[in-house]
Amino acid sequence: MSALDELRADLATVADLERAGAVLDWDQETQMPPGGVEDRANQLATVGRLSHELFTSDRIGELLERAGEEVAGQPYESFEASLVRVTKREWEQATRLPAELVENIARAGAEARPDWLRARQESDWSIFAPRMERTVEFSLALAEAHGWTASPYDALIERSEPGLSTRFLEGLFGELKEAIVPMVRAIAARPEAAPDEVLDRDFDPELQLGISLAVVQELGYDLERGRLDKSAHPFCVSLGAGDVRITTRVKRNIRDSCLFSTIHESGHGMYDQGIPKILDRSPLWGGASSGVHESQSRFWENLVCRSRAFWIYFFPRLAKVFPAQLADQTAESFFRANNRVRPSYIRVDADEVTYNLHVLMRFEIEKQLIEGSLAVGDVPEAWNQALDQYLGLAPTGALTGPLQDIHWVQAPLGGFVGYALGNLIGAQLLERVRVDVPEFDSLLAVGSFGPLLEWLHREVHAHGRKFTPDELTERASGGPIRSDAWIRYARVKFGEIYGLDW
Ligand code: ZN
Repeated sequence: MSALDELRADLATVADLERAGAVLDWDQETQMPPGGVEDRANQLATVGRLSHELFTSDRIGELLERAGEEVAGQPYESFEASLVRVTKREWEQATRLPAELVENIARAGAEARPDWLRARQESDWSIFAPRMERTVEFSLALAEAHGWTASPYDALIERSEPGLSTRFLEGLFGELKEAIVPMVRAIAARPEAAPDEVLDRDFDPELQLGISLAVVQELGYDLERGRLDKSAHPFCVSLGAGDVRITTRVKRNIRDSCLFSTIHESGHGMYDQGIPKILDRSPLWGGASSGVHESQSRFWENLVCRSRAFWIYFFPRLAKVFPAQLADQTAESFFRANNRVRPSYIRVDADEVTYNLHVLMRFEIEKQLIEGSLAVGDVPEAWNQALDQYLGLAPTGALTGPLQDIHWVQAPLGGFVGYALGNLIGAQLLERVRVDVPEFDSLLAVGSFGPLLEWLHREVHAHGRKFTPDELTERASGGPIRSDAWIRYARVKFGEIYGLDW
């Protein structure tokens, strides 16, 4: 047996353990009775410890070394060379982390949650601030363990977006800010171009769920290898090549959109369903990074399903399900209602244009926190300054300010950048799709999504985790990650809706 075969066998065991944990997680979010919390925490901790111990063992290190010699000379993109390269990167990262630190971070997250909830109830940052101090401390400890040169933030970004740095993101996000801030101010002066009162009408939740499931099946989400359930926070979880599940939420209005949440998660789901089986049960199985994964969910949610072409196809069908609620609407008016741009305080409710600004604000604040130029106690003030500067909004309280996201309850920092990267990468892919599939818009207008899904399967999903985000973007779109494609996309789409010329 070759070292590579032995390595694959061990990595398959690690993957099985991780997925067993993922089943426990999925069950916790969708089915488990409240009394199960303590048992479930123990089970998850045990499975997590076993898979971590197995993966970080010396044996894996030795096998990696021997397998590295066996695959020397194989092409960079080959399964064998990629498996050794990617596993080695992750093994080195994982072994650098002291087990105690990993445990302490997990425990701190669990302990911080009640304080975060209490701070939210009273909209009082000072209640959460001591926990936030620990989040920053642990993030710094994590950065030290990984090692960094220019900024400790680099180490945290490297964990979720391999190959990207703080300085690179500063450049990219600076360009975005310069383009978006004036765009939002100009749009805000013309609200009459996209009235959206229809979104607040009463829509039966069961009917919403039914039509949402029907849509994602049409887009290409495969129910033979997936299912849809309800959860408080929508997510996608992969339990293997044959089992990629999504969840959604539903309210009586459609402003908190069940339809778009379901489509978003199905975009994550179709990514994982498109990864070839040969990569299964190894570190090559999954998305290239959080940002690349978001590029897929946002592609379907925004670039496809918030397009005019999609609503030409889909509005008549939706109007059959909700004839009374949509009686005074047309495909055009409903398309506009779903593309209303309006500065708001809450990130998850933000429209396609202002969403990026919410990410940029958090990036700035996190960077200053970990580099030591901002104190935790001053976060609300920094937040309100950023609100004015980025979104032109008046100061707000902590609940609708820095206490709104759960990300800071659990270390490490750095969890937001993928959302903006996903938007940028998606727009770059769209430009390439329009070259390779010239009839793209007319296909959407008749509900033909197969050619798009095939393109994404071939250019993005087929590679699993073989490439870094930049390598993958370069291969699929013809250039490294950049901001200009998204800026062009937004100027054309929203310039046209709002009658503005950029
Ligand atoms: Zn997502």
